[in-house]
Amino acid sequence: MNTQNDILGLGALGLYVHAPFCTSTCDFCAFYQEKPRKNAVKTFLDGLFDEWNLVLPAPPVDTVFLGGGTPGALSERDLERLCSFVREAAGECFDEWSVELAPSEVTPAKLRVLVEAGVNRVSLGIQSFQPRLLEALGRRHPPERARQAFDWMREAGFDNLNLDLIFCVPGQSLEDWRLDLDTAVSWEPDHLSTYCLIHEEKAALFAQVERGEIGPDPEREERFFRFTWDFLKEAGFDQYEVANFARSGKRCKHNWNVWRMNEWIGLGPSAASQRAGERWANAASLDRWSAALKEGRLEREEVVTLGALELFEDYLLFGLRLNDGIDLGEATIRCPQVDVNPVRELLFQLAEEGLIEGCDDQFRVTDLGRLVVDRLGSEVADRVRVAA
Ligand code: SF4
Repeated sequence: MNTQNDILGLGALGLYVHAPFCTSTCDFCAFYQEKPRKNAVKTFLDGLFDEWNLVLPAPPVDTVFLGGGTPGALSERDLERLCSFVREAAGECFDEWSVELAPSEVTPAKLRVLVEAGVNRVSLGIQSFQPRLLEALGRRHPPERARQAFDWMREAGFDNLNLDLIFCVPGQSLEDWRLDLDTAVSWEPDHLSTYCLIHEEKAALFAQVERGEIGPDPEREERFFRFTWDFLKEAGFDQYEVANFARSGKRCKHNWNVWRMNEWIGLGPSAASQRAGERWANAASLDRWSAALKEGRLEREEVVTLGALELFEDYLLFGLRLNDGIDLGEATIRCPQVDVNPVRELLFQLAEEGLIEGCDDQFRVTDLGRLVVDRLGSEVADRVRVAA
């Protein structure tokens, strides 16, 4: 069978491991996670080895991303076991190994475990520097803990650090957001991810949405988006995706691989994978995930077969979010069966509305287009179906 990378003419492979544990649940979060009880952690760590054996054979891994939940919720000893599993699975040749951590879990001892294992990038979930806004998000760390965690990470030798921030929090003014961005930039991180608060149905904050107390406000969001893009550009960060900004050479390679439609293997409950012409998610339940593994099978959900058309569509949808944009010439090489002309016509129409810029085969969204990128995505997807 052709693998997706054969179809796309690419070779990179990512490994994502979902550690589904958090000591407390943030009010905006809809990720699958549970409390790191001893038995649950053991079930998870044992299951990873079983899952990997079912996934094999796999080519060498280029990038690793250890997320969740938050892997830092594990004890030092369990984190060591998790890292040694990753070392065994990923081999020696990976280029980047990222780990997500929450400030309250960072300790010098855990950082030593990560450094010794070969982790070379850490993403710290700051969200805000202001106690009132952290409270509004149900985020349980004092701001000074975040600073201490960051300093410890630098002292441990990490030279590739990301900070995650959230904007459009209930009660947050644009001035509050300016202060958060200012503080983040003054710490001199290598990368910043800035997310607009999304009201997920499964998140605790959704109860306030249902009561009509909070909710999406496109005009307010536009002000925050535009402010963010201008502020971080002025601060010397290179925006390479709607929500992601990097210092030179510090783009997240793992995410980049995903957005460029390479393959990745996801391990752990709820982890998604894209491999061998299919995309799927593991069962979002530690018990179901582990029970299936004990029977020698993977509990896969939402399985999608990726033909040339689906790959072409995803290439375009991700490309709309990337500042490097879309290259229809490259898309033609990757998916020669697909007629790109209907899409090219649409992109020219969108260019007349100031939403897209470019010519010939190279297109990228403008700031105006980036504000309505989801709408552009559905228009492009409709046009792809016309091309089918
Ligand atoms: S946002 Fe992160 S730390 Fe908070 S509950 Fe979700 S996964 Fe856990």
